[in-house]
Amino acid sequence: MRLEPYSSRGKMLIARGIVEGIIKPSRELLRTVAACTMCGYCMYRCALQNVDVIIALRAKLVQLGFFDSGHRKAADMILNYDNPYSKSLRKSVELPMSGETVFFAGCSYVQYFPGKLNKIGEILSRIGGVGWLGPDEPCCGNLLLTSGQVDAFIDYGERVVGKFKEMKVKRIITACPGCHETFLREYPKFFDFDVEVEHLTQLLARKVEEGRLIPRNLNAHVTFHDPCHLARFSRIIDEPRLIIENTPGAVMAEMRHNRLSTMCCGGGGGAPIVHPRLTAKIAERRLGEAIDAGADILITSCPLCEHMLGRSATRKRSQIRVLDIADLF
Ligand code: SF4
Ligand code: SF4
Repeated sequence: MRLEPYSSRGKMLIARGIVEGIIKPSRELLRTVAACTMCGYCMYRCALQNVDVIIALRAKLVQLGFFDSGHRKAADMILNYDNPYSKSLRKSVELPMSGETVFFAGCSYVQYFPGKLNKIGEILSRIGGVGWLGPDEPCCGNLLLTSGQVDAFIDYGERVVGKFKEMKVKRIITACPGCHETFLREYPKFFDFDVEVEHLTQLLARKVEEGRLIPRNLNAHVTFHDPCHLARFSRIIDEPRLIIENTPGAVMAEMRHNRLSTMCCGGGGGAPIVHPRLTAKIAERRLGEAIDAGADILITSCPLCEHMLGRSATRKRSQIRVLDIADLF
């Protein structure tokens, strides 16, 4: 019973209790509510918009003066340095600094896999017609919203939208499912935002279908980890599989949880900031599914998933390699 508040149902009851004044907010309650990666699995299994309720609950707690210091620090970082990680994070992608279509690098690739942005930049140069916003590229602000700091999200988002307008951006391509979902699903709710949003996986799949891009030879048993935000929120499920099917030598096996019923890597919703051990355990369980599927290579299309699952593989001394879908080119 003590674990129920950690479940989605428990959080729905907490939200109701707070609204009705039956439950009093506390530090302990805040920790419980922070134990959610916003993976959307509960929403997929239930008729409620659970994730929206959890965001509203976090926002209510912030309004009542209860916020996690780690979330607040990350928010200050976004507001002052345009990324949630560090003052010294510098973005760099080898693409022209202009264009109606821009690649939005996001912060997590820069933090965890800066070299991968060169790879993505090189692929996009081959495709042609894609620029980027330059080293002043802002953050999408996802963490401000998911941690309940809605006023800060609105202030910051206005700046982001202003930047897109100033640069005359009509279309964004991003490789991060968090950025993708934030721009696709959240920005239109809050801002006058008329920009087309595409995930890199969609663009790559289209180019593979057209015969303009060919994945490299892999010769391995592979599996695909659907990033929750990409699958459940943005419904991008077939595209990565099309790329893998066209990868010479790749023998694909699905994990137990796949497509819309995918399982989280533990990295989302700001949860690792508050619950590092719990979220590492989630990653471990997900990695276990990839091992059970007999994969030599676990492919994903999210920098946070790659970070969480790759770190778990290192800790478990597993031979499995974790790659991004862009690494297949
Ligand atoms: S972690 Fe996922 S399944 Fe659990 S409450 Fe949060 S969104 Fe729902
Ligand atoms: S980090 Fe990846 S698996 Fe985890 S919540 Fe985000 S998209 Fe989902």
